Amino acid sequence: MSNFLGKSIFVLLLFALVLPAVSFADELVIYSARKEHLIQPLVDAYTTETGTKISFVTDKAGPLLQRLKAEGKNTHADLLVTVDAGNLWHAANEGVLQPVSSAVLEKNVPAHLRDPAGNWFGLSERARTIVYSTDRVKSADLSSYAALGEKQWQNRLLLRTSKKVYNQSLVAMLIAQHGEKQTEAIVESWVGNLAAAPFSNDTKVMEAILAGQGDVGIVNTYYFGRLQKKNPGLKLALFWPGAQSGGVHVNVSGAGVTRYAKNPAGAIKFLEWLSSEKAQNLFADANMEYPVNPRVTAHEAVTAWGSFSPSTQNLADAGRLQSDAVMLMDRAGYR
Ligand code: FE
Repeated sequence: MSNFLGKSIFVLLLFALVLPAVSFADELVIYSARKEHLIQPLVDAYTTETGTKISFVTDKAGPLLQRLKAEGKNTHADLLVTVDAGNLWHAANEGVLQPVSSAVLEKNVPAHLRDPAGNWFGLSERARTIVYSTDRVKSADLSSYAALGEKQWQNRLLLRTSKKVYNQSLVAMLIAQHGEKQTEAIVESWVGNLAAAPFSNDTKVMEAILAGQGDVGIVNTYYFGRLQKKNPGLKLALFWPGAQSGGVHVNVSGAGVTRYAKNPAGAIKFLEWLSSEKAQNLFADANMEYPVNPRVTAHEAVTAWGSFSPSTQNLADAGRLQSDAVMLMDRAGYR
């Protein structure tokens, strides 16, 4: 009897010690600035495939970063998912991410779309390109981002606010390409051509072009896609700056393993899965973006917008030069 009791206690102890460890290792917690309807299908697919339980919190990039910093070692988050390389770089710079070395990620994510130190990896690519009125503009009149400052676009250009990280990253990448002096001249020439004060979002830029307030603008292509979905006869088209002018500005939504992740191995596995052939379309198509994995083709609604030469400058520059870009836009009078 005492032998039986001893065995029972031993078995109970074993369960008490081992079970939480097992369930812990099979769980992941994600902080996501990518919206719930974009992240949920991925989480569901991964749980179905692997049995890994995933919980996530969604919020804007800024508050999630503040939360990670405040929680420090006590955080439950294993992964930070967010949009724009500027935000990812900032998170790495604030010390809330940890470097990851993974042959799978290095193979699936092109070098310019991930942090050289491995703190973050792009998982979907978005293009920020020129949009124009098909009623009033011929594509032959367009050439590059810089050329939007030419005289022919006077009182015809519309832009989103410089407060948005997308434009800060775009200008940071122009600084990396042209240097600060030339970029400042470009941004000043844009400001001189504005037909209206900058708008709060990309959709408003396109709606203003449709309303005849201006003729050209710069937007992320998935906003164009959303508008086109609602109105297939949209009198707008995308223009792709060519390779000779540096190519199309691309950015990413991506993720990094948190510095104090409780399950870093599981977080890396999930990242590797997100970059894989089977998950890339699930990740990119939901927001009409491009897969980062070069072996995966974008959705046909997206490829229908045409092919382009993306800039291959490392996106870490978007973060590194972000504060320079913000000050430059301020000096140039871009609000
Ligand atoms: Fe967006």
